[in-house]
Amino acid sequence: MKRSFYEKTKSFFINMGKHYKLLRVLAIIGLAFSMLFHRIYLYFKTGTKRFASTAFILLCFMVGNSFAYPVFQEENGFISGEEKEAEVVAVADSQIALADEQQVEYENIKVLDDEDVVDGYSDSQFHDMENVDKYFLDEILEENADTNFQPLKDSEQAEMESIPEMAMAQKPQFDAGDWKLVLINKQHPIPEDYSFSLGMIKTIKGDMECDERIIDDLLLMMQAASEDGVTLAICSPYRDLSYQEYLFNRKVRAYMKKGMSYMEAYSISSQAVTVPGASEHQIGLAIDIISDTYLTLDEGFAETSAGIWLSQHCAEYGFILRYPKGKEAITSIEFEPWHFRYVGRDAAEVIMKEGLCLEEFWDKYL
Ligand SMILES: [Zn+2]
Repeated sequence: MKRSFYEKTKSFFINMGKHYKLLRVLAIIGLAFSMLFHRIYLYFKTGTKRFASTAFILLCFMVGNSFAYPVFQEENGFISGEEKEAEVVAVADSQIALADEQQVEYENIKVLDDEDVVDGYSDSQFHDMENVDKYFLDEILEENADTNFQPLKDSEQAEMESIPEMAMAQKPQFDAGDWKLVLINKQHPIPEDYSFSLGMIKTIKGDMECDERIIDDLLLMMQAASEDGVTLAICSPYRDLSYQEYLFNRKVRAYMKKGMSYMEAYSISSQAVTVPGASEHQIGLAIDIISDTYLTLDEGFAETSAGIWLSQHCAEYGFILRYPKGKEAITSIEFEPWHFRYVGRDAAEVIMKEGLCLEEFWDKYL
């Protein structure tokens, strides 16, 4: 019987398999692999479009993301990793140098006055204070001639003036809860539950507001000054928060226009204008005082007859110089010879006699 080629080949492989078992194993493994690759080949061949579109989406995704890589954000185009590192170091160095330079600038810069800002902080000749209400004693007296305020007679005034001496002899005890002594500064904003009654002093120009409990002493002080030939004028007594905010923000903006960052402008503004929420003007206990001969709120007021009279006599009426010269580091406010704060006669006598600021008084007596 003649065998076909297929049968011959088949029996040849079977015989080979019988004689060499290792060959059989290899053949099986080879067959299994060829079948596997054939399956994969078929799988890709049937899904060509599907895989092509997936690959395309992946490519788009990678290209799109690559633009977010920092190297593309450099204005000068591509730079290598090493260059990049060197540049980072250089930038860090230049920033440190920049910080030093700004520090120097910051220390040398002049603190702006309110009026400097109002007038574009360039022309100091415009310190005319025309937009600030000023109240002179005669304007107050004229309006109140027939009502509440009667100037004291000399004997009564002498009696009033002797009270602080008596109090000193008895070593006054101060109470931290006393409204007159409330400490308001950057570290101690106005307590949320603080309340007071706004009193009005009628003047021919209109009403002037401050804490009603200080009005008598304030008018007595103005009266006494005028008897000594000094004409005082009260300006900007009570200010509500929005006005305080306005003053502060205006100063911050002025500094930012000069090229400062917001933080620098805020920091330097807080030296000149009290931070909103931390002003004694908002609780009606602070009075800015000028005179008829000197209508500017600046350091020069200290040298005027009114400035000198006030520093000598304010304590007799319960007022203190709130931001004295030499205490700037404690009060964080520049010297303000025009800004007076009511603390009551006992405390005022101690504070002015010992040359303290209110912060030091609190440390020592409360
Ligand atoms: Zn003031």
